[in-house]
Amino acid sequence: MNATNALRTVEMIRCANKAASGHRAARHALQEARTEQASLSVDHILGSSTGAYEAARKHTRRTEKRLQRAASKLHAWRPTLNRYPTELQRHRATRNLLEHLADDAVSLITAADLVLIQTSAGKDSLVALHRTVEAARKAGCLHKLRVMHCDLGQAEWPGVRELARRQAERYAIPFIVVASEGGFLGMVQERGLWPDAARRLCTAYLKRDPTGPVITRLTETLGLGRQAIVLNVMGVRGAESRSRALKSRLTVDDRTSSSNRLVLTWNIIHELPDSQVWQEIADNALEYHPIYDTGLPRLSCVYCVLASPDWLVLATRVCFALELPHPQLYAALERRINHSFKKDLTIGGIIAAARMLDALDGPLTWRRGDALRHHLSPSTADSYLARLSV
Ligand code: SF4
Repeated sequence: MNATNALRTVEMIRCANKAASGHRAARHALQEARTEQASLSVDHILGSSTGAYEAARKHTRRTEKRLQRAASKLHAWRPTLNRYPTELQRHRATRNLLEHLADDAVSLITAADLVLIQTSAGKDSLVALHRTVEAARKAGCLHKLRVMHCDLGQAEWPGVRELARRQAERYAIPFIVVASEGGFLGMVQERGLWPDAARRLCTAYLKRDPTGPVITRLTETLGLGRQAIVLNVMGVRGAESRSRALKSRLTVDDRTSSSNRLVLTWNIIHELPDSQVWQEIADNALEYHPIYDTGLPRLSCVYCVLASPDWLVLATRVCFALELPHPQLYAALERRINHSFKKDLTIGGIIAAARMLDALDGPLTWRRGDALRHHLSPSTADSYLARLSV
């Protein structure tokens, strides 16, 4: 099956699945509405609670109409539902089609109308961007590409937004920045709580939520007059964490997909180990952020709520060396909202540990290229730096 037909089948299964779950929900709602109406009918016959009974009766009518609409949608998708009768069968069929599509990046991009590449400007985004561009070049589809960066505000390391822009400019791809008011720190101040692994509101609120409106705007400008196929490329890798290892390379984004667009999340470098990411950066002289040279493994926020205590202490020492205000800024916010940055770990405690290490070992120092020296070799770093400065 070619990529276009495979995507059509994925969309048919998505719609059939939606029709089946919509019908189930409408049936359940009608059952509840009827039960509620029946429970009020005795009071109604006795002449009390007339208003409540009338409201319940109207609600039941509305719910009956909802069920009728859901039944007609179900009818429209009957052929697909006959072919894949159970939810498990639909899930398996979609997964197999998407796995097959993910094996052939060039055909996938050829079949797509728009390819949105999400970048944090970090090393994984950088390689994901490079690989997408390579595949798009082969497909002759560079014009379909857009790069999107979510600016988290003052919480980020300096120069992130500018670097993300330069990384997109290298390939002459249009660059889009979205920034929510106040950024990460404004969100924490407003909520009075730091996010954590269980409630990762920062990524939902600052990164995921702004993506839908951008896709809406971009697909509107395409003016296709039919459903658009949108690839949303991410630099997510399985090697980063157990939860990321469980993610698939290509999935349907049900939240953002609609009759106007089928949106697929594409983790294009999902299988790459750390070493290969660095190798691709070195081989292609891709500009990475100097913060990696300090030994920190991730970019984005200076203090990440998911980082280990060691990383947080290291980030603080880097701030000391660069004379950045983040430690004081975060400590003041922590005091204001009276909520510790992590369970059993305050920014104050992290700062104290960083000061102690600085006192013992002296201030932190590093050189440009240290990340490559560490992950690959000194000669690779030297050759990378020489090519980067050309
Ligand atoms: S880097 Fe960490 S703290 Fe910052 S937005 Fe991402 S998950 Fe949240």
